[in-house]
Amino acid sequence: MSTAELSQLEFDQQHLWHPYTNVAKPGPTFVVKEGEGVHITLEDGTRLIDAMSSWWCMMHGHRHPAITSAIHEQLDRLPHVMFGGLTHDPAIDLGRKLLQITPDSLTWIFYCDSGSVSVEVAMKMAVQYQHAQGFEGRSQFATVRSGYHGDTWKAMSVCDPDTGMHHLFQGALSVQHFVARPPITLGQDWVEDPAQNGIAALRALLEAGADKIAGFILEPVVQGTGGMYFYHPEYLNQARSLCDELGILLIFDEIATGFGRTGEMFATDFCTVEPDIICLGKGLTGGHISFACTMTNDRVALGIGGGSPGIFMHGPTYMANPLACAAAKAALDVLTGQDWRARVAAISDQLTQELAPARALPNVRDVRVLGAIGVIEMAHVVSADAAHGLAHEMGVFLRPFGKNIYTMPPFVTTPEQLSQITAGMLHLAQEL
Ligand SMILES: *Cc1c(COP(=O)(O)O)cnc(C)c1O
Repeated sequence: MSTAELSQLEFDQQHLWHPYTNVAKPGPTFVVKEGEGVHITLEDGTRLIDAMSSWWCMMHGHRHPAITSAIHEQLDRLPHVMFGGLTHDPAIDLGRKLLQITPDSLTWIFYCDSGSVSVEVAMKMAVQYQHAQGFEGRSQFATVRSGYHGDTWKAMSVCDPDTGMHHLFQGALSVQHFVARPPITLGQDWVEDPAQNGIAALRALLEAGADKIAGFILEPVVQGTGGMYFYHPEYLNQARSLCDELGILLIFDEIATGFGRTGEMFATDFCTVEPDIICLGKGLTGGHISFACTMTNDRVALGIGGGSPGIFMHGPTYMANPLACAAAKAALDVLTGQDWRARVAAISDQLTQELAPARALPNVRDVRVLGAIGVIEMAHVVSADAAHGLAHEMGVFLRPFGKNIYTMPPFVTTPEQLSQITAGMLHLAQEL
């Protein structure tokens, strides 16, 4: 049969690869025709609330007029130009905006294509910095378990070794140093005893590997894909001291947590310290076009610059793509042009209130909320395909991961729409 005779969905299922799927057993899939605000419209006209913000990036809703018009205007002027030897207003204007909202010490920006690449860039910066300081042996990384940093090779090497399937890629992945995830949760009081708060284990790991470790990389406060786990920021303050003592760089992956999602502009803002390198992505363009960046401080940027070869060895073809820069600048203006703190707080309060009844359900292990993140943790693994099957009925698109039924709603979600999302989550917690 020629492919012309296949329906759109049939073609998709027979020829297109989807994220983390088996091509021999493709899961249920909707054909989406349109997005607007919190809604996606399917082929059959059904409108579903995108409770995932399309994997956490569509923070201000689909097809936000300010963001799409910024892209349109840029498209008519300069869709792309190489960044070697050339620069442009969208890159510069976005840079100015980023410096206004990011931690003060991070003044150097490297624009790149996706979150995973920004992690690659961060890890490369750390290695080049250490080399420039005369520490050629420092090329490995330390991290905490249950983390997620992307799917490219170096990023994958610091993902959780079990869920990241390190055994599958054995021999192909760089060796890294893992310590248990920070044990004190965000809601708990900090415990001073280093044996209990995780710092003794971290010290032991970093000291043992100090001559080999270039950087300590982790997601600050919220571990996303690795389990939607919220931990105490004091762990990060103390990690900062340890890293300073041992000459190890501290890298925060804020790809999931950035731009107000946690209730703070960045999860770093929960801390009293700042990292040496930060990775930003996902919500950077409000989900309208793939883009990310890595930011660092003078110590690292000038440290690399002062060493040999001095140049930083990375430069993607689409570096600082003007369309993406314009989209990001517009998305950040949308974010800061509203009282985002109050909005996220209101979403947070409503999630807390409306998800609370899930605690009484037999298979629910925990319910937790931070900023505009709401999680029902089940005692068992939940099928994303089964949730897909119930989406029409609930009017809500949810894609549970592991044991977690969760939402990261767009900030434009109305109270009524949010109630529909939480009702959908409770329904899943009951049914699945
Ligand atoms: C999604 C994510 C990444 C990877 O970003 P991509 O754009 O998918 O490459 C890295 N780190 C964290 C914390 C993420 O949530």
